[in-house]
Amino acid sequence: MENGHLRDTADKWIATPKNTIAVLQKYDFRFKKQLGQNFLIDLHVLDKMAKAVEVGPEDICLEIGPGIGSVTQILAERAGRVIAVEIDDRLIPILQENLADYPNVEIVHRDFLKIDLVDFFREKQIDRPVKVVANLPYYITTPILMALFESGVPLHSVSVMVQEEAARRMQAKPGGKDYGALSLVVQYFCQAYIVAHVPPNCFMPRPNVGSAVIRLTRHTEPPVKVEDEGFMFGLIRAAFGQRRKTMVNSVSGSTGEVSIPKDIMTKVLEDAGLDPMVRGEALTLEQFADLSNRLSELRGQGGF
Ligand code: SAM
Repeated sequence: MENGHLRDTADKWIATPKNTIAVLQKYDFRFKKQLGQNFLIDLHVLDKMAKAVEVGPEDICLEIGPGIGSVTQILAERAGRVIAVEIDDRLIPILQENLADYPNVEIVHRDFLKIDLVDFFREKQIDRPVKVVANLPYYITTPILMALFESGVPLHSVSVMVQEEAARRMQAKPGGKDYGALSLVVQYFCQAYIVAHVPPNCFMPRPNVGSAVIRLTRHTEPPVKVEDEGFMFGLIRAAFGQRRKTMVNSVSGSTGEVSIPKDIMTKVLEDAGLDPMVRGEALTLEQFADLSNRLSELRGQGGF
């Protein structure tokens, strides 16, 4: 469907300023800033998001944070099934009413970050890789994406609206200030490309910063071979926990799931041909994978 067609049927879509204001007034809804509530009010952007998802009748879409249903509605029109998880109890009756015409939508009142995704997929009898879609609450972009990818649940793709800065971080290469745990996790699992840049006036209320729609498509094979993925992510999180410190100091002082004695980390860096004073922010994904494999082998042999 072309963008023109969405405009031609503007009255039908929740994601217009007029229809959004009508919903807010009807329910006397007050935005909760702490939940990252910025609702989409632009049909051109809605159309771009839907195109990025490439959603069809065979698809199952999982939407995180449906709000008043602005994005959910177009997914419901095109997908076989939509599961939408919303934390704010005030939005549940609004969603139920706004989406009453779509029997293929299931609204789930949960905090997405507290869901055990493996159990959830089993409970919902999800039998194929899902297309995840979200206009993400910005304050939890990184934990949501990490939870999705690290859970190992079958994902076809993840199309998300994020802050411009988060989009840059996902695509960042070693050395710059944008490079961090999010860059490495995203690049390990997927190919990322920016579908659209979205200015603040496309939302109600307007956020203070620009946004971008980014599509993450899962690699068929990860670009590096890792013996223990969980350990590598623990190592990455420890390395960036205190990003101004050297790798040796940050991973030895880490209170996270991976903490490695200084002498062991120094030796492993040397064995890998790296400077023992190197910082995590200078290391590539290949280097993290290599260090992780060396460390998990040592750990298996009872080396620490
Ligand atoms: N999808 C809607 C849109 O595009 O207009 C709303 C997007 S708004 C940026 C983010 C939504 O995520 C809000 O509805 C908010 O209540 C919800 N949310 C925030 N934290 C959440 C969490 N932990 N789990 C589920 N939903 C959450």
